[in-house]
Amino acid sequence: MIEINYLHIGIDDTDSPDGMCTTFLASQIINLFEDNGIELVDYPKLIRLNPFARFKTRGNGGVALKILNDDKAELARSIVLEEVEKLSMFDCDNTNPGVIFYEGEITREMQDYAFRAIYEFITIEEAEEFGESIGCEIHKFKKGRGIIGSIAAISLPLADYTFELLAYRDSENYGTERQIDHASVYRMDKETYPDTFENIDYSEDYIAIEPKTPCPVLYGIRSNIPEALQRAKDIVQVNEPIVDWCIFKTNQHTDMHIQKASRISDMKQFGCYEVVGTVKNKPTIIDGGHMFFYISDGSGEIECGAYEPTKNFRKTVSHLRPGDVIRVYGGIGEQKTFNIEKFQVIELNDVEYKNPVCECGKRMTSAGRNKGFKCKKCGRRIESGKKVPIKISRSLKNHWFYETPVSARRHLSKPLCRMF
Ligand code: ATP
Repeated sequence: MIEINYLHIGIDDTDSPDGMCTTFLASQIINLFEDNGIELVDYPKLIRLNPFARFKTRGNGGVALKILNDDKAELARSIVLEEVEKLSMFDCDNTNPGVIFYEGEITREMQDYAFRAIYEFITIEEAEEFGESIGCEIHKFKKGRGIIGSIAAISLPLADYTFELLAYRDSENYGTERQIDHASVYRMDKETYPDTFENIDYSEDYIAIEPKTPCPVLYGIRSNIPEALQRAKDIVQVNEPIVDWCIFKTNQHTDMHIQKASRISDMKQFGCYEVVGTVKNKPTIIDGGHMFFYISDGSGEIECGAYEPTKNFRKTVSHLRPGDVIRVYGGIGEQKTFNIEKFQVIELNDVEYKNPVCECGKRMTSAGRNKGFKCKKCGRRIESGKKVPIKISRSLKNHWFYETPVSARRHLSKPLCRMF
């Protein structure tokens, strides 16, 4: 049997807040590959890593390409290195590109490394040592921090995945307002949802496919199936040139960043988790519009936050009451608060304890400490001071999930439309 040998290419950390995007760089490389008869095996991959990574520009994404390791592989390597040299935003202190080439199969230890890059922090030294141990050819530009993400991007297995079609602008238009016909985006969403998703935040009238940064991306449409992206692209009208477009296979919207925590006390800062807890207090809103409450279990408690950008989601959260058992998904950030991405109601506390109702129909009042209740209307008294349980109606529903709006959602968060 002939064993097929592949060359895996990882690229990361080429962009800055002022411009570029590693996906655009990848699409330029893919064009040059095509011109030279170098074919990709599978889609190019856009892999989102630890959402809390310190030096990320935006969404902490790295790119991976896979080609046959044949007589064109040398040419491919030089195309990649030349394009990274040419297009990276070297002037930015925080842009430290890293490129890696790896020949052969992705091993179990490489997969473990990739999950570590999603769950934890990895240093440049660790990444370099690991890369060398598995035989990667490593190229560091400046500090070369990008090798952390590059190795992870080629190594991550994608059991669940989505696709994103990215359309790119003419460089003359970088930094100017994007000329996208918003009505056509609404039409596209209507005709292609739920095959495509995250297009529009209806509650905020927010066009989510349109980035707000000066990068080369004109728009990005996300989907479960590549064919739907082609349809979506045909519907969206733009009034500026699209110089190129490319479909990436991604781990976006898969909840890959979420680890199951069996106890609150097992969770660590800068980790993302799914955990079950009981609501301890009524959610309260503070100046700035952030909403907080605590959940607890036998092991401890943690403050949960629904921040101002989550807009109407805070209204939903405000309906929680002490005693509700919920499963929360999110991450523990800088402030050590559990930043909620979504929650599921496990069991609502639909019981409220009230003073008993008198035979005459009037609700009784306390007759004083340890003196039971009395009726102000007919004067009747009862000795027991025990309040009585009353079933109350709740606007939240048992077993239902509630999620943050599209405008406030993380790249990795799995939307409910992908869960059911
Ligand atoms: P964009 O989304 O526009 O591509 P970005 O948010 O991906 O930008 P990068 O420029 O890629 O930002 O910078 C992220 C940096 O963090 C990269 O150098 C990457 O190697 C590194 N990194 C990724 N994951 C981790 C991790 N788990 N620990 C430490 N560093 C990481």
